[in-house]
Amino acid sequence: MIYKNLAVNQAGHLTFAGHDTTALAQQYGTPLMVMDEAVIRSRCREYKQAMEAYLPAGSQPLYASKALSLKRIYEIMREENMGVDVVSAGELYTAVRAGFPMENAYFHGNSKTDADIRFAMENGIGYFVCDSMDELTAINAEAARRGARQKVLLRLTPGIDPHTHEKINTGRIDCKFGAAIETGQAEELILHALSLEYIDLRGYHCHIGSQIFDHAPFCDAAILMLEFMAQIKEKHGFSAPVLNLGGGMGVPYTEADGSIDYAANIRNIGKLISETCQRLKLDPPAILMEPGRSIVADAGMTLYHVTTVKQIPGFKNYAAVDGGMADNPRFALYQAAYTVLPASRMNDARDFVCTIAGCCCESGDLIQEDVALPKPNRGDLLAVLTTGAYNYSMASNYNRIPRPPVVMLGADGPYVAVRRETLADLVGYDR
Ligand SMILES: *Cc1c(COP(=O)(O)O)cnc(C)c1O
Repeated sequence: MIYKNLAVNQAGHLTFAGHDTTALAQQYGTPLMVMDEAVIRSRCREYKQAMEAYLPAGSQPLYASKALSLKRIYEIMREENMGVDVVSAGELYTAVRAGFPMENAYFHGNSKTDADIRFAMENGIGYFVCDSMDELTAINAEAARRGARQKVLLRLTPGIDPHTHEKINTGRIDCKFGAAIETGQAEELILHALSLEYIDLRGYHCHIGSQIFDHAPFCDAAILMLEFMAQIKEKHGFSAPVLNLGGGMGVPYTEADGSIDYAANIRNIGKLISETCQRLKLDPPAILMEPGRSIVADAGMTLYHVTTVKQIPGFKNYAAVDGGMADNPRFALYQAAYTVLPASRMNDARDFVCTIAGCCCESGDLIQEDVALPKPNRGDLLAVLTTGAYNYSMASNYNRIPRPPVVMLGADGPYVAVRRETLADLVGYDR
């Protein structure tokens, strides 16, 4: 099977981290989000050990918590000595409430308000990843008001297409994030940062994309960024101690995706960085990486019960489930691929091809098309794999559907990390 923590037991049921999925569904109800805590922790360790072994001193991974933000995740990140990045006051607050050490938190986002900036400083945020001139001015003003310099990285766009590895002059440069090197705006942003009394410029950030399986696009970005850093050093005498290469390492969602070796990618990136720094006579900066998906995606699974099977002769078949775009909008948003397994009937022949439909009032509310299953019956359990990232964090109450719980499978057994929302929760904000 696609992941090592999946198996089939004697009853023909799918097991996840050693737990019978039908028993989990019975105990906690469906839809249910379950997560294998050991996968999260081992992925953190893999990044951390590889970055310490192969990258310059001071390098570390930051978990990009937009992938999945809940108190328990920040506790796990604290225990694993990871940094985190947050993109909103809400994520920041969740990290604070989990006791995460905020000096190792990085505040991202292209549209921070004055209130966001103040809230982050009040809570002792380590770094801002500053996206624009306007933001730089606002951070400087708030830092001045507080009388303390604020550490900042600047978000730059190196102009790399991660899927062709080509240097591109459009597309990336015209995206809403950061300042482009190509247009000279990155240099202007740096000079402005260096001129501001309360800005402590520590380095640069770039993020080239997501679902990248190979080290080459990261190497391309690193070369461009290091060459730019060498130019800035030569022209303006400023040598930045930190380079953040962003997130984006991939996760296999289906067998067709193949596998990925995170440590090998990091080793290759490290080799390239040390060669490039030597060539440019640059002191190697500490490297930060911001994995989100690759920390939590394959640690998660969503369990649904089938409610309805519909055959439209000559067209297609549907199996509808008791969840959908409210808990997993990724197929509706961008036709994301998923592996769907017949969790309660793993040993039956999979000879019925169908579309898995959600329960929301939208024709586009689908989980996956062309899934081969044993012809389902109402009450069968289905498992959608690889739902740990960008599912719960993107969930909504569309159609007034309560969000599912997040159940962690920990070393001492399953526990509820976030409880299921109730119908009463849904009207909790109404007057
Ligand atoms: C989304 C994002 C990440 C995480 O990307 P993944 O593909 O989930 O690893 C990291 N850094 C920034 C700035 C991002 O926007």
